[in-house]
Amino acid sequence: MAVKIWILDTTAIILGKKPEGCLTTVPEVIEEVRDRISRLKLEISEIDVEDASDRYIGDIMKNAEKTGDIHRLSGTDIKLLARALELKESGYHAVILTDDYTVQNMAYHLKIPFESVVQKGISKEYKWEKVCSGCRRVTPDHDICPVCGSPVVLKRRN
Ligand SMILES: [Zn+2]
Repeated sequence: MAVKIWILDTTAIILGKKPEGCLTTVPEVIEEVRDRISRLKLEISEIDVEDASDRYIGDIMKNAEKTGDIHRLSGTDIKLLARALELKESGYHAVILTDDYTVQNMAYHLKIPFESVVQKGISKEYKWEKVCSGCRRVTPDHDICPVCGSPVVLKRRN
């Protein structure tokens, strides 16, 4: 069984999340954390910091253009996703830890597992459905809309 590698976003690090397994992120996230917390008390040494590679950044941008998420993703988000995609394609069990809806949507689209940082209360559990980004049809069984050919994205129902 492959070791789980968690890719932590800014919120995950600020909240001090340490799930079991290896922890990794990109330098841009560490910069954001330092901007938000002046006296950094976190043991960042536990987190492996590595740059996203250009090739995977390009892959993320291409996919984000297709899903229409490109304008909602920050540079940091793109690099985080690129790092996760690279790990996944290298055969690791990579899981993104993020509460960012757009990052989650992209992860879903790229079949990268993700988990939320902050547990939502049981009564506020969100329901998700797969909706065509073109004609808005609900298409649970496809990644590309069988009617209009647009990419299918994950949308929150409530
Ligand atoms: Zn459609």
